[in-house]
Amino acid sequence: MYFCVNYHVVISSILLIIEGRCYIMYKYDFKTYDRALESVNDVIWEINVTSNEFFLDDRILKITGYTPDNFTSIQNFIEKLSLEKDKIPALVDFDNYICSRSHFYQSSFRIKTKNAEIKWILIKGKMFNDSNSNSTLISGSISDITEIKKLQSEISYVSNYDSLTGLPNRTFFFSMLNNSLIHAKIENKKLALLFIDLDNFKFINDTNGHNYGDHLLKVFAQLITSLFSEHGKVARIGGDEFVLLIYDFKTLDEIQNICNIMQHYLVSPFEILDKWIYVTASIGIATFPSDSSSPSELVNFADFAMFQSKLRGKNKYTFFRKDISDFYLRQSQIENELKNSITNKEFSIFYQPQINSNNNKITGVEALIRWKSAKLGNIAPSEFIPIAEKNGFIVKLGDWILNKVLSDVCIWQQQKFSFGTVSINISPIQIKETNFKEDLINACTKYKVSPNLLEIEITEGTLIEIYDDKIETLNDIIKSGIHIAIDDFGTGYSSLNYLTNLPVNTLKIDKSFIDNIKDDKNKAVIKSIVFLSNALNYKIVTEGVETKEQIDLLRDLGCNIIQGYYFSKPLPQSEFMKMLNKSKDWSEYFG
Ligand code: C2E
Ligand code: CA
Ligand code: CA
Repeated sequence: MYFCVNYHVVISSILLIIEGRCYIMYKYDFKTYDRALESVNDVIWEINVTSNEFFLDDRILKITGYTPDNFTSIQNFIEKLSLEKDKIPALVDFDNYICSRSHFYQSSFRIKTKNAEIKWILIKGKMFNDSNSNSTLISGSISDITEIKKLQSEISYVSNYDSLTGLPNRTFFFSMLNNSLIHAKIENKKLALLFIDLDNFKFINDTNGHNYGDHLLKVFAQLITSLFSEHGKVARIGGDEFVLLIYDFKTLDEIQNICNIMQHYLVSPFEILDKWIYVTASIGIATFPSDSSSPSELVNFADFAMFQSKLRGKNKYTFFRKDISDFYLRQSQIENELKNSITNKEFSIFYQPQINSNNNKITGVEALIRWKSAKLGNIAPSEFIPIAEKNGFIVKLGDWILNKVLSDVCIWQQQKFSFGTVSINISPIQIKETNFKEDLINACTKYKVSPNLLEIEITEGTLIEIYDDKIETLNDIIKSGIHIAIDDFGTGYSSLNYLTNLPVNTLKIDKSFIDNIKDDKNKAVIKSIVFLSNALNYKIVTEGVETKEQIDLLRDLGCNIIQGYYFSKPLPQSEFMKMLNKSKDWSEYFG
């Protein structure tokens, strides 16, 4: 064997790299090293820098197909075997080490073996002075890391690409966005981020099954890739959320054009699993440098703008504007302040009476929540309830409202006031809770309130949303004696014939009809609601009545139960108690 004399030194120096303690290795015999080396699978090499002698282990044959005598040095090994693309970096790595520009020598590159296989190898080495031979040696190992590289690239694929669509995923997208922003800043280029969200995807998924939804996502991904991969980078960053990153655009018209192209292609239906389906998308756009230079802010802003497209009726695109971010900032502030609002006792309940305009008596009362946030001041329910619904807080809040209202009712009963039914507004999320019905009934028992004094108000939208799953719950609630009212009636999509099957007692005609009551069409709608309600035995309450003229017109149409500023604004509990107290003589109070 070439350089046999130095074999001990070579082996020991390898073990020095592995163990970091070369000097004790001299104590072991050759066979021990040999066995040890067989098990490590690394090929060892050594250069005597002083004499230029080069040793390479026989087992290089296994990796490269060449015997050691084919190579005269590490540089020569690199020159002969490395791929053209990897040659210079590999030579530079070695050169840097020799010139003491790095502490260890470590370099990985691809080689072409004798039978033309491409393999990844890793070369390591370390320099030291051998006092025995009084020379400088560099010893090291060569390992075949092809399998490791393969695994690494598989792992990197899995962690960077979405397995369903094959598109870059959120993680990879953010790293692309970061890089693009760095370049855009240096090169003074403009960048646009299009946030694309499929419309009604949840509905499609729920009605056609997840397999169908997955196919749709794949087809949509193919569509936007084929349309726009020349314009920019496409990625899937969430369930039905895609992004298109456009580098170096000149005018917003270009971006608008891209959105129009996308909408144009979404006009025709897709054929997914033998079924034709119409799919649209809502798009939001944020740009660098106009809107932001922060990657996460750009994505959030584009997301906000996308949501604005949804609010505008879906299948639209919206460019980010400052007022959109102000809106979302306020939303997140409210969301934050809601967290401790119950424990900080920031809520109260106001009561608005419903009056029979024939005799001016109170026939009912609606409980309306009020929030005075310590930080943000008074916030209207129309602003915070949708946020509480979105993050689920409404369940806890709804529970607080139920308890507060029933404890007030308990007091009114003790004072022998008469107030008809008490209505509480209920969100769909509350009805979906498993114990909703039981909680209502238990609260009535707890505060000794007869269930038929309680009415829950749900909107038409809620009714449609929960109809299939929870209609039984509503039937059970009615059976328990609790009343159900449909709120904002006429604004949703309930067709009148829908009504015949509904478990409800009361329809509350929406304020918008009362506002325009002089309009003949509105009159006709109110008339038909009254006609149907009489036939189905529903009570009608008209909301938002502000003038005597409206009351007279409503009376002519057969609507007598009035809730509105004309009689009273919603009042704090103490004021409402005073009203209940005085209203023993109704005509005097509301006369
Ligand atoms: P809503 O259930 O339709 O309540 C009626 C709204 O109209 C109340 O607004 C009330 O103050 C207002 N209003 C009543 N009469 C008149 C009138 O003559 N003129 C005008 N301009 N407005 C009138 P509020 O209290 O701001 O509540 C707004 C919405 O917030 C409610 O609409 C309801 O959807 C929701 N909300 C209020 N309280 C609660 C609650 O305790 N729980 C839930 N889930 N939602 C609530
Ligand atoms: Ca209501
Ligand atoms: Ca209403």
